[in-house]
Amino acid sequence: EALEQARLANEAKTSFLARMSHDIRTPMNGIMGLIEINEKHADDIAFTTKNRRKAKVAANHLLSLINDVLQLSKLESSNIEFAEVPFNMLALLDDIFTITEMRAGNNGITVKRNQAASVEEYPYLWGSPLHVRQIYINLLGNSIKYNKKNGSILCSASAERTDQNHVLFKMVIKDTGIGIGKEFQEHLFDPFTREHEEMNGKYEGTGLGLSIVKQLIDKMGGSIQVESEVDEGSCFTVEIPFRLASEEDAMKTEVLHETGNIDGKNILLVEDNELNMEIAEILLTDAGARVTKAVNGQQAVDIFRAN
Ligand code: ADP
Repeated sequence: EALEQARLANEAKTSFLARMSHDIRTPMNGIMGLIEINEKHADDIAFTTKNRRKAKVAANHLLSLINDVLQLSKLESSNIEFAEVPFNMLALLDDIFTITEMRAGNNGITVKRNQAASVEEYPYLWGSPLHVRQIYINLLGNSIKYNKKNGSILCSASAERTDQNHVLFKMVIKDTGIGIGKEFQEHLFDPFTREHEEMNGKYEGTGLGLSIVKQLIDKMGGSIQVESEVDEGSCFTVEIPFRLASEEDAMKTEVLHETGNIDGKNILLVEDNELNMEIAEILLTDAGARVTKAVNGQQAVDIFRAN
């Protein structure tokens, strides 16, 4: 049994590497090709601008793929616990729905938000809002992507007090999309699995979104369930427990998130990669900062001390 398990794990790793290399090479080829074309047509500004935009799309796709892989391997390989901060769930949901409604609108899909009074009763919670956001955005993103023309999404949120200090937050996301076959449902949360691989051009993706969602929910001690009928739609139910926070706690974190202005500031930039240094320097000086460069930690400490 152990031998068989090791063999299967090894097989999974091999196919993972093969897929990964392929998925990375595709956008990379696009970027390289476009750069080459632009070199040949340097005089045609309109044409090269259009190609640069295309290269940017491919680069963004590559970046999100690599970010997903890094995040997934980090989640799978370690026992990291998320740093918890007090946050306002109502504000977070508003944010998530604003983004979702905009994306859905662009695709001709209607979103209905159904929020139980219980959600408003417990707005302040301890948790990792960035990851909570990632879970819902991912699921809602799929319910837009795999929806049908003029389809709809019904999203219901509720909260249930489980003891003095905790609530169980429930979110049900139901779409009228293409649905998921019974067989595939068993592999839905496996990395790199996609049901409609042959329609790769139609539905863009990497098959990592749901694996990340599952890992994040597991880490938070929650659960995710799916019910789906092909051609009718899918329904994802997510339950996550949270510890209750107070309004004062939540206010404190909000203040921390204010953004600043670096115009006229002195910045010590420490970077050992030449190209990254060049890019960071341009971005910072464009924003009005005065930049001092150091190429390693020792140099940075020396400059800082002498200043
Ligand atoms: P990706 O969307 O990048 O392919 P995911 O891990 O998010 O990766 O989803 C894996 C697969 O599950 C998708 O390729 C799709 O086949 C299926 N799927 C996910 N969500 C839905 C949904 N709401 N409706 C239909 N199919 C879905």
